[in-house]
Amino acid sequence: MSVARKHQERREFKGCPDCGKSLEVQTRKQTTDFGGANGVNVVSFIEPYVVCSACEMEFILIEGADNQHDAVCRALGRLTAVDILRVVRSFNGTREEFCNLIGVGEASLRRWIRRAAIQDDSNDRLLRLASIPSGVHELRKVKHQAELDMALGDVGIVLRANWKHGDRERAESQMKRFAL
Ligand SMILES: [Zn+2]
Repeated sequence: MSVARKHQERREFKGCPDCGKSLEVQTRKQTTDFGGANGVNVVSFIEPYVVCSACEMEFILIEGADNQHDAVCRALGRLTAVDILRVVRSFNGTREEFCNLIGVGEASLRRWIRRAAIQDDSNDRLLRLASIPSGVHELRKVKHQAELDMALGDVGIVLRANWKHGDRERAESQMKRFAL
């Protein structure tokens, strides 16, 4: 899921581009519909904007889109971009190692942190698990076991082939070697 970001970046406005009069930043409460499990769901967020004091020309600021994205994340019960960044920074290792541990691509992680997409429920749980030291410990064990299974998978193929072709002595010595 992504929230459209067609909004203006905040920058120094010297004056209204139309009439030259002074501009001021204001905020207003906005609502947005997002899908969710039970049809239409509405969530509110704060939208900052710049308005001309004379001609009422308006710019919507990028922070509004960020606030909208965060509000949807919270309503869905997902970590926000800032929450995710905090989890990654608290991890004792590189971003690549972090992605390897939880089994997600670095491009996906980047999209969540940039608010270009919202992680699904399962990835959200993984991120939450990786936010606590005991969770990281368990994830390391699970990853190690998966790697072991993969290695043993290859051994299993060789064993089965030897067994099938009558070379049981060789198969048995291999079983001893791999402690099977
Ligand atoms: Zn103006």
